[in-house]
Amino acid sequence: MTRYISTPSRTKEILEQYGLHAKKGYGQNFLVDPVIVEKCAEASHCEGAVIEIGPGIGSLTEQLALHAEHVTAYEVDEALKPVLADTLSPYDNVEIIWQDFLKCDLKEVTGRLEKVYGSVSVCANLPYYITTPVLFKLFEEASIRYITVMVQKEVGERFAALPDSSAYSTLSVEGQYLYQVKKLFNVPARSFNPSPAVDSVIIQFSRRDDVQESQEETATYFAFLKGCFKQRRKTIYNNLKEYLQDGTKADEALQKAGISPKTRAQSMGQEELRRLYEALR
Ligand code: SAM
Repeated sequence: MTRYISTPSRTKEILEQYGLHAKKGYGQNFLVDPVIVEKCAEASHCEGAVIEIGPGIGSLTEQLALHAEHVTAYEVDEALKPVLADTLSPYDNVEIIWQDFLKCDLKEVTGRLEKVYGSVSVCANLPYYITTPVLFKLFEEASIRYITVMVQKEVGERFAALPDSSAYSTLSVEGQYLYQVKKLFNVPARSFNPSPAVDSVIIQFSRRDDVQESQEETATYFAFLKGCFKQRRKTIYNNLKEYLQDGTKADEALQKAGISPKTRAQSMGQEELRRLYEALR
């Protein structure tokens, strides 16, 4: 019977064999729950090429290699070189790039992978200290249709939150503008070695087909959203006035969009926010 890397006993063996200690600075928490790892890979739409950020000792990479045609994984910790050379040796469809993912040329990589494998998705147990910058870098590549990631529960809830809930924030509006965001599974802290202080969640972003715009247009819209949510409990009028540095302009735009100036930013949904943006242009 196959003993996957993600079984607690095999992970323990690998860590001991290589004298490895999870590095906090790199957000290293290794998954030791084969059921979760398999479910995550299975749900990720990774048939063609899949990009993983942070393979660690290879637990999720192994399952991705079994489900996808090709895996490209970015790992920043070069101490893991001999480990991955060993644990992933049975799989010839895995390419490891020893680089900080935030520094890679994602456009070049996705273009190359899409040409050869037809589709590119992302599946990763993200290092928590860079969750948001990694996601926003991925959001810039419209060719990535599915992003399936394990994140801290609180961050996952913010991305999936709806108006008027306590977790609703700029992250919710920005993520949901470009994607349908779905929470897939909860992952308890005990599924990791070492166990983090908080629980995690696997969320999936599925790219919306109806948003066809340039990166610059999206960036301008996101700057507007940040302005609207600067103090999300305040009224939209107050936030907009500060963002525009002009109370009259804010008033006119709200009137044109048919939105009461007393509406709280945290109560505004995608459609209302977009209407306000259009009214300003
Ligand atoms: N995928 C493995 C698993 O599920 O067991 C490990 C996940 S661990 C939460 C995060 C991994 O990301 C670590 O292996 C860490 O070294 C790596 N990492 C941290 N910062 C990174 C970066 N900037 N670029 C690429 N990998 C990074």
